[in-house]
Parts: sequence; C-alpha cells; structure tokens
Amino acid sequence: MGGKVYIVGAGPGNFELLTLKAYKLLKEADVILYDRLVGEEIESFLKTLDKEIVYVGKERGEKGEKRQKEINMLMKKYFEEGKKVVRLKGGDPGVFGRMAEEIGFLVENNIPFEVIPGVSSVNGAPVSSGIPLTHPENSYGFLVVSGKDSGRIKELHQEGTLIVLMGGCTAKDVARNLIESGISDDKDVAVIEKGSMKDQRVTLTKLRELAENDFNFESPALIVVGDVAKFAKLYQNDK
Ligand code: SAH
Repeated sequence: MGGKVYIVGAGPGNFELLTLKAYKLLKEADVILYDRLVGEEIESFLKTLDKEIVYVGKERGEKGEKRQKEINMLMKKYFEEGKKVVRLKGGDPGVFGRMAEEIGFLVENNIPFEVIPGVSSVNGAPVSSGIPLTHPENSYGFLVVSGKDSGRIKELHQEGTLIVLMGGCTAKDVARNLIESGISDDKDVAVIEKGSMKDQRVTLTKLRELAENDFNFESPALIVVGDVAKFAKLYQNDK
C-alpha cells in the first residue's frame, strides 16, 4: 500500500559492507535508482535482482543540478505509481551525497521517506587500510573536506560541521570551550542521544544555550555543531 522512498547508503563498495537494512530494502524494493559510486560489486548484485534498476549517476562534466532534478522527478514518478523506491548512494548519503536536497524535495512533495546511513568512505577506506582516524598520541580528531575546498581548511570549524564525541555529559563545558575557541555562540547545535536506535532523541538548540543551561543528555550522545543541524527538522521519524 502506497509508495515510499528510501535514501540508502551503499557503503564504500565492498558488498559485505552493505548494512543489513540496505540489503533487506534492496531485496524488497520495486525500483532502485543507483549511482556510479556504489561500485561494480554492488552493481553486479543489483543486476541479479529481478526488479527495475535505473542508473542515475552523473556523467563526467555533466551539471549536477540538472541530473538532480531528473532524479527528483524519477523518485516522484515511481512514488506516485505506488512503488517502494530505493535511492542507493555510494558510502553514506550524508557525506557529500546531496541528502538534504533530496529530502527537501521529498518533504515539499509530501512523499514519505526514510534515510538509511551507510559506511562512508571517510572511515571505510582508511580503516580497511589499517589507518585509524584518531589515535591517543597521534591525532585528536579529523577533518573531512572536498578537494575543491582544500584551500579553506582553516575555516572548516566555523563553516563546516563539527562533531563532538564523548561530550554528552560535559556538554556545557564543551560549548564554552567551543565559544572560547572562536565559534559563534549563535551556531545551531543538535545533540543526538542514542542515534539510530529506537529511542533516538535529537535536541536542537544554539551553542549559547548549550553553554548556559544544564541539559541532561543520556548516553551515548554526540554533539553536531553547524548550520546543517537545522535539517533535523525536516526529518520526521515515522519509521
Ligand atoms: N557519500 C560518499 C562520498 C561521495 S564523494 C561517502 O560517504 O563515501 C565521492 C568521493 O568519495 C570519491 O571521489 C572518493 O574520494 C571517495 N570514495 C568513495 N568511495 C571510495 C572508496 N571505496 N575508496 C576510496 N575513496 C572513496
């Protein structure tokens, strides 16, 4: 009954690094819209499924916006036909994956959706090569940036997304430290408790509020600081 769109992360390309949920949805879907980045292994698997699979990857030199519009229209068309649509993306949809744009379109068009995270190449590729992203002596955090913005590394903590792990219980101090480090106290903040679990809770606030109030966050929790935090509002958890 009724269609739905699932925006699904395919992981970094190794078939077994698909999540169980992604695998299940691929099996259940009526139609799969997939990118080049899902990789050959997963593409071969898709071809063994007896269902409609549509390649929607960008060709070299092609304008992203035009292709994105086409993808949006396809999601709408299949939804209106009552189909269960899997929009399969390389890695994780939230990392350079146009996730907010697609969700924005779905919300605008009253199309029910769900987002399924995937193993991002951000951790998938280094960890598969034996490289940890953090280390007690060698690295106290990590940055992720696209090649085109590699000249703007210094501004990243202001203009990008900052994620603080192990700061749920000390959120007030964390917020004060960040403000002292020069991050605007007007920045949007989302504190996510029990992320992806059934009782996930997202608190949207400002860095200033976090610095001035005693919130009682349940463990495990992480703090997202940055303009993207506001997109949590688009996501209704109607799972
Ligand atoms: N959403 C994706 C990233 C999309 S941007 C993710 O979460 O991984 C595309 C870039 O991701 C590629 O240009 C490459 O730099 C990187 N990438 C994706 N898969 C990769 C892999 N298996 N190994 C190394 N880099 C990869």
